[in-house]
Formats: sequence, C-alpha cells, structure tokens
Amino acid sequence: MSARRVVVVGYGMAGARLAEEIRRRDRTGERVALTVIGAEPHAAYNRVLLSAVVAGTMDADAIRLQDADWAERTGVDLRLGVAVTAVDRDERRVRLSDGSAVDYDALVLATGSTAWVPPTEGLRTEDGALAEGVACFRDLDDCAAIVGRARPGAPVAVLGGGLLGLEAARGLAGRGALVTVVHPVGHLMERQLDPGAGAVLARTLAGLGIEFRLGRLAARYVPGDGLKLDDGAHAPADLVVVSAGVRAETTLAEAMGLECDRGVLVDDALRTSDPRVHAIGDCAQHPGTVSGLVQPAWEQAEVLADLLTGAAPAARYRGTPVVTRLKARGVDLAALGEVHAEDADAEILCLQDATRGRYAKLVLREDRVTGAILLGVPDAAAAVTQLYDAKTPAPSDRLALLLGRALPAAGAPAHSPADLPATAVVCRCNTVSKGQLVKAWRGGACSVADLAATTRATTGCGGCAEAVRGIADWLAKA
Ligand SMILES: Cc1cc2nc3c(=O)[nH]c(=O)nc-3n(C[C@H](O)[C@H](O)[C@H](O)COP(=O)(O)OP(=O)(O)OC[C@H]3O[C@@H](n4cnc5c(N)ncnc54)[C@H](O)[C@@H]3O)c2cc1C
Repeated sequence: MSARRVVVVGYGMAGARLAEEIRRRDRTGERVALTVIGAEPHAAYNRVLLSAVVAGTMDADAIRLQDADWAERTGVDLRLGVAVTAVDRDERRVRLSDGSAVDYDALVLATGSTAWVPPTEGLRTEDGALAEGVACFRDLDDCAAIVGRARPGAPVAVLGGGLLGLEAARGLAGRGALVTVVHPVGHLMERQLDPGAGAVLARTLAGLGIEFRLGRLAARYVPGDGLKLDDGAHAPADLVVVSAGVRAETTLAEAMGLECDRGVLVDDALRTSDPRVHAIGDCAQHPGTVSGLVQPAWEQAEVLADLLTGAAPAARYRGTPVVTRLKARGVDLAALGEVHAEDADAEILCLQDATRGRYAKLVLREDRVTGAILLGVPDAAAAVTQLYDAKTPAPSDRLALLLGRALPAAGAPAHSPADLPATAVVCRCNTVSKGQLVKAWRGGACSVADLAATTRATTGCGGCAEAVRGIADWLAKA
C-alpha cells in the first residue's frame, strides 16, 4: 500500500510539532509521505521565546525548534519561504507562491494567527505597508526590526497593554529604552485580569521604568516624532511596537469555502467542514475556543498525528484548560479560568498588597478552583494551578492557599518534589506531569537534558526549568 500524502500548510509551532509527531510514529515514512510548506524563510522556531529575543536574553539560534537538516534526515519534503496561495479541494491540490503544486490525500491548516494593526492614521503607508518606525511583534523578522531601533535612551511606544505588549515593553525597558504603553482600556490585560490586578501590575511595571497611558487611543502617528493620543497628549517614539491583538489566519480557509467563525471550525478529530482537511493551532476554533496559546496547539498536533498515521484512530482532542503566564523579568503573573466571575454562586476571595506587588484572587465553585489571578505569589500560583488542573477540592484554609502555604506544588521551592502528586502538571506547554518525568527517569533519562529530550518538558516557554531540575535532583538522590 502506498503512503498517504499529507500536506501541512504552515511551519510554525503547530505545523513543526505535527511533523515531528508524525515522524515519531512513522519513522520511515512508510505510512505518511509528508510535505510541509512554510511562508517564513526560517527553520521553525519557538515563537513563545520571541519575548526573550526582544529582551536580549536569547538569539535566533537559541530558539530554533529543529536542526537545519531535520527534514532531510526524516524524509520530509520541507519548502521554506513559499506560501500556499490556493487549494483546489476537488482535485486535492495545493498551489504555491513559487508556481508549483502539491497533491494531497489529507491537508492540515496550521496557518497560525496574524497581528492586528488598528486603523490609526499614519501607522500604514498608502500601499498598506507599515510606516517607517512601526513594527508588529509576531515573528523573527519583527524582532530584528524592533531590536534594530530600540537603542538605550530611545523613546518607544507600545500600542496595546495585553500579554504580548507588556512582554515587549518589559524587554525593551530592560534594554534601556524609554517605554510608554498606550492601552485603550482602563486597566492592563483586561481579558485575563480584573481592574484591581491590572492596577497592581501597572504599579509593578512602572517601578521597572515603564510609563502607561491607560484608557487612551492613539489618534495619529508621525514618523520621527511619535504618537498623538486622543486626549491631545503626545507620546514620543522612535519606534512604535503594535501589539493590539491577534486574529486567527483564516484567509486561505475562507477562500477554500471552509466553515469559519473566529477561526477555522474543527471537531474533536480536528476535522474542518471538509473531512479531508484538518486545522490545528492558532487558526483553529475547537468548540468555543480559539486559544492563541501553544499548549492547545501542541496537544492538537499529538492527536492529529495519532489519527493521520493510524497510530491511535480513536484519539480525540477534548479541549485544554489554559493558564496564561506573563514572561517578564521581575514579574510573576498567572491567570486561569473565569477571573471575572461575580455571581452569587461563586466563592470569591481576594488579597491585595499593592506596595509589594502582590494580588491574589481565587474563584471557587462547589469547592473547586474555577478561576484565579496570582500576581507576585509564585508558590500560590503553582498550588492553585495544580488544583485547577486536577479539579480536586481546595483545602478549607483558603487563605493559606492564597499565600501558597497549603499544598506542595511543582516549582514551589519550599516543598520537596516527593510530596507532589504524580498527576501534577510540571511543564504546561507540553502537558508533562511529574509521573511522566519519573517514568522517563526510570527509563534511563537521568539528566535534565535527557528528560527534556524524552518528555519535551522545558522546551516550550522554559518556565518549568527550575521545577524539572528540582525533580531531577530529587530523583538522583533517591
Ligand atoms: C511574542 C510572542 C510570545 C508568546 N508567548 C506565549 C506564551 O508565553 N505562551 C503561549 O502559550 N503562547 C505564547 N504565544 C503564542 C504562541 O506563539 C502561539 O500560540 C503558537 O505559535 C501557535 O502556533 P501555530 O503554529 O498555530 O501558529 P504560528 O506559530 O504563528 O505559525 C503559523 C505559521 O504558518 C505560516 N503560514 C500562514 N499562512 C501560510 C500559508 N498560506 N502558506 C504557508 N505558510 C503559512 C506563518 O508564516 C507561520 O510561520 C506567543 C506569541 C508571540 C508572538
């Protein structure tokens, strides 16, 4: 029987992971003949770590996801720097920007998302390109443009006080740029935070040298001068970083006539409205959610690899309870679940210590954690996240929980990994539990590097590196 021709559109975090997972299950290419098409000219890289590139703590080489010869070694037909421009679903053929075409039996859309640029006067030139001194924050080329202009002492405006805008602002402030964040809402990260937490976060970041113009819109950009705001104020800027939100990249899917809403609609088998076409990652909308985070993208890649190779035909994707973390040096912030709940059925606790940059909010229903904001309380963040994942009842001493004193938790230095339940998720990006790490260790992966290679823990945002090191040390002693 000949191999099934699978074509993946997009060589970002979801597309690259899918290709790897397919080859993990089908090493020789006997079952799947794989073609991956990526519009970017670079080998796949860890987009989550672009914040570290802007901050200057990592470079492009350090965030590569695959070796230069990975595709050749694994027999994958990888085409870089070419986009899929059209798909003929009747012929089952994709057309590429270089004029070539590839036929498929199964097609996977992993086209990610794109930065949204607000219609502010002056941000774009007449031909639609970004004006001189304006950059988005989405890919490696954007980072090169940002870093090239953000010299120490240079005024920089960041448009958008969401997660990515704040990561860019923190990184640029760390490089010595004079950063002003302009945000149209009255508090930061309004999707993940309530006004109280937003205010504490703004205070913490102000202490790190960042200025804020909250509740303000940029009315006009003048290259070489900066932004004029809607209240007439002026924000000087040699560089404007646009981080005003992302949109699922559905252009191709819509042109193909697939059903789309905020993303390409998919079912639990990650099938679109055409059963031969799948979608994963930021471009996909699984019942209810377009996530914009890497953990769902990578879980979806595993399920789809199971299905496309036939390794587990019953595999299904059922959704991912996501936790949002801000990756900004000097700030520890996690937000999860329903943070805005106000109804009488919810038990809501809140502790605020703005002077020390701490804010902890817990939302519980029937004793289970259903939402939380944890700023400046890393021990509590680790313990609460564990309860949220496991859906187990919270300890009755809620205050101790909010202060991080109620439970042993992954990443909480006060506790030994021995006390941690095997089900505790240690690496969120890759959904790796303590139990999986212990199993890998017993299977011969007896160093942090080997644990990372076997389970992939630490290879996403890297935030779990200390917890994994702690577990490795504990296992070595045991
Ligand atoms: C600065 C930054 C920080 C982030 N931090 C975090 C974080 O801390 N935690 C977290 O969970 N998530 C984070 N994210 C989000 C995370 O990076 C995304 O969820 C993840 O990259 C999604 O993977 P994807 O493959 O779906 O999309 P992408 O990684 O965006 O890849 C899509 C790829 O498809 C290509 N493409 C699009 N259309 C075509 C076409 N027609 N033909 C060929 N190729 C095409 C694009 O060029 C791109 O290379 C961050 C994102 C950014 C930008």
